[in-house]
Amino acid sequence: MNDALLEKIRALHIEIERQLQHIGQVNAQPHCAVCTSVCCKESFCRESVDSAFLRFILGQRADEYDDATGWFTPGQGCQLDHGRPLVCYEYFCNKFSTAELSQSHASIARELRAIYANAHQGQHMLIIDDLSVITQPRLQRIADALQALRDRLANSPGQAAVEQSR
Ligand code: SF4
Ligand code: SF4
Repeated sequence: MNDALLEKIRALHIEIERQLQHIGQVNAQPHCAVCTSVCCKESFCRESVDSAFLRFILGQRADEYDDATGWFTPGQGCQLDHGRPLVCYEYFCNKFSTAELSQSHASIARELRAIYANAHQGQHMLIIDDLSVITQPRLQRIADALQALRDRLANSPGQAAVEQSR
C-alpha cells in the first residue's frame, strides 16, 4: 500500500514540477534572463541526490549526476526536468521583490514544499533517510494535497497561457 502511495506521490510530484517549469517559461522571469551570475552550482544541485525523496523522484536519472557540475550545463542550463531541489523553483537570490515572488511560480513552489512538511516525526520529507517509515495516513494526506495542487494548477489562468503557447 505504501509503495503504491509513494509511486502516486512521485507521479504527481513530477507532473507538478513540469507545470512549474511551463509556468516559469511562459511568465518570463526578467531577472534571470539578464542575470550575469546564474546561481546554479553543484552545491545546490547536490540535494537532488543527497535527499532520499528526491533520489526516489529522480529514479534512474540519479546515476547521471556529475559530481563536478551537478545538473548544470553551461549555455544550456539545468538538465533536469524532474527531481530538482525545491529551492531551485523559489529564486533564492535577492533580485526579486516580495511582490514579484508572490506573482511567480516561486509561491507555488513554496506550497509544494509545505505539503511535504512534517512527513514523519516533525521531519520534512526531503530530509527523511528511509521513506518506508512514513505512515500510510501521512502518505495519503500528502498525495491528496499534491493532487489538489496539481488540479488547481491545471485549471489556473497560467496553465491556459501554457496551453496557448504550445
Ligand atoms: S535566481 Fe537570481 S541569481 Fe539565479 S539566475 Fe535568476 S536572477 Fe540570477
Ligand atoms: S536548477 Fe538545476 S542546475 Fe540549477 S541548481 Fe537547481 S538542479 Fe542544479
